[in-house]
Amino acid sequence: MGRNKKGVDVNDIKKAACEAIDVARASLFDISAKMHAEVELSFEEVKAQAWQCAVLRGAGFAVEEGLGSLKTAFRATRRSNKPGPRIAFLCEYDGLPVYGQSCGHNVVAAAGVGAAIGLAKVIGQIGGEAIALGTPGEEGGGGKNILHREGFFDGIDAMMLVYPGMDNIAHSRSLCVTRVQVAYHGKAAHAAARPELGINALDALLQAINGISALRQQLPSDVRVHTIITKGGTLPQVVPDHTTAVLTVRANNPATLAGVIPRIDACLQGAAQMTGARLERTWRDTPGRELLSNFAMAGSFDCNLRALGRPTRPRDEISGAWSGDTGNVSWFVPTIQPQMAMTARDVPPHSHEFHAASIGPAAEACILDSAKAMAMTAIDLIADPALLQAVRAEFAARVP
Ligand SMILES: [Zn+2]
Repeated sequence: MGRNKKGVDVNDIKKAACEAIDVARASLFDISAKMHAEVELSFEEVKAQAWQCAVLRGAGFAVEEGLGSLKTAFRATRRSNKPGPRIAFLCEYDGLPVYGQSCGHNVVAAAGVGAAIGLAKVIGQIGGEAIALGTPGEEGGGGKNILHREGFFDGIDAMMLVYPGMDNIAHSRSLCVTRVQVAYHGKAAHAAARPELGINALDALLQAINGISALRQQLPSDVRVHTIITKGGTLPQVVPDHTTAVLTVRANNPATLAGVIPRIDACLQGAAQMTGARLERTWRDTPGRELLSNFAMAGSFDCNLRALGRPTRPRDEISGAWSGDTGNVSWFVPTIQPQMAMTARDVPPHSHEFHAASIGPAAEACILDSAKAMAMTAIDLIADPALLQAVRAEFAARVP
């Protein structure tokens, strides 16, 4: 990097930011450990919010707890006297029912808080604004979509968050996603005495699922369809007259997704015709978008991560085959959501094993390196106007 026009050495500034993160390490690990021990579900994350806000307040941030209609959202800001770009680090902190911190949001949150503290340490020298934006309800409710609608992403120049996983990947991806709520209505009858008078809503649902399983062979390889049955009937001695399910459908891009939806829907309708059950289904209005990862920003993150001693690798077709509410907002603000190696290669996200891996030395290393690489990338964006310009130009060219 060397010295910029004002004679400030960017490497010295990055060093100072990283030192501030190291100084804060105990409080960052504490946030993560408490969130791991006391898992809170989407939009109920009152303790996680309080733990993060307390640390940020202690680091001199102005903190707003509760944003718009989301009482567990927060925004912590530290502004320099010198005007400059506003860089946001996104924190997520909800866990999953049963599976706990199996998405590693405790690590995401601690890393976001740490990055904001690191950047805040140096904005007096380089200018700009450090923001930690607490975005609740990632697993269950698309909290970022709500915050976006209510204007809380307005005025942010660039934003980032890091997800723990099995690899170090700066330029990550995610899938676009939609969902359908399905119900079949049949007719109840004694399952032994008069089964011929019943209409079996469970058979309808099973035929639909089997139809989709057969369809998979002819779907593009990036498409993912997965289902749970939320109601399979009431009593085994009664022909099931009401069953429900939820299906999620994902693909690399909206065009592929739009092509698959009618084929899934045909399976749902076909099962109704086969069984005589009545289908009722509600597709999500607007699919969630895939992540628009900014190449220029990811390039900076990649350099910074390698400078921290972590070898990186390019994304592939497996990495990032998930979705998140960052996807939608990445089409409004230049964004990266890199992945940071934390787990062994045979540990899938959303598993008990991932929850277990989200605490301990590897998780702590992930928190520190994620925070440092994000703070360093933010410093590049503020200290190097050509980089921010490249980020903006790329964003403008890719967003229709
Ligand atoms: Zn998740």
